[in-house]
Amino acid sequence: MIILSGPSGVGKSTVIRQLLAVKEFPLRLSVSATTREKRPGEQDGREYHFWKRERFQEAIAAGAFLEWAEVFGKYYGTLRSEVEPYREQGIGVILDIDVQGAAQVRQKCPDAVSIFLRASSLDTEEELKTLEARLRKRGTESEEAMQRRLQGARAELAHAGEYDYPVINDNLERAVAEVNAIISIHARGTGMLDELKEEAIINKVGGRFKLSTLIQKRMVALNTGAKALVEVKGGDRLAIVVQEILQDKIYLDASDQVKTRGTSAGDAARRAMLTDISDSGGGDD
Ligand code: 5GP
Repeated sequence: MIILSGPSGVGKSTVIRQLLAVKEFPLRLSVSATTREKRPGEQDGREYHFWKRERFQEAIAAGAFLEWAEVFGKYYGTLRSEVEPYREQGIGVILDIDVQGAAQVRQKCPDAVSIFLRASSLDTEEELKTLEARLRKRGTESEEAMQRRLQGARAELAHAGEYDYPVINDNLERAVAEVNAIISIHARGTGMLDELKEEAIINKVGGRFKLSTLIQKRMVALNTGAKALVEVKGGDRLAIVVQEILQDKIYLDASDQVKTRGTSAGDAARRAMLTDISDSGGGDD
């Protein structure tokens, strides 16, 4: 299960649409139920199940929801029937839900991978400016509704740190590739890391949890301007991080801080002392 959150206007729907078109693995978007009004172009049962408040409340009472929350004064919820039958068939399910819903799902499904999509940067004020511009351009909201969404965005951004991966959608193609790569690592347990000798990389870093921490922290660093230490065709940030690990360019120290290794003589000497996390027999280059 993949949780995708992010403030209003960040382009979640577009990223998801493109992601589903990639079809690298069986993946389905859960269609939520909501009590908000349909926007022009939306269809009942496609974007959402558009329900009356009473129906939504009955479904809550009947335990039909995996999670539900009130967002912008309206109910939104993930129906179990949109998730469970597909997961049983080995189909990955992606949830486009808010931070409250994500917290509920994380508790119920600890194996869920969570991704927080941001518009432009990891700086909240800068991010809010970009979001406002995008919402104005979309033009689906009244001024009042837009201000409410921007306030909501500020509140959502405060929870970004609870997610496994931050992805910046400043370039759609790259954002889709990153989300795709994250899903392929976690949801299938094979994919990219399989090709690159998954066991080797996990052992090198010191376990699955450390690998996840290292990837996550290094992606944040790359997203905030750190220079890649390897060259990867296409520039997909996750592929860069995986290559940096495989080429011994980055590692986690004892307090889970990301450290980089250059290629200078001093670095080579330091690296020689770090035999516990380097490949057997691969000490010098
Ligand atoms: P919108 O009205 O723009 O379609 O969605 C508003 C917000 O509600 C988005 O942040 C979206 O992720 C969130 N949302 C949509 N469906 C659900 C759901 O089923 N559960 C929760 N908790 N949030 C949802």
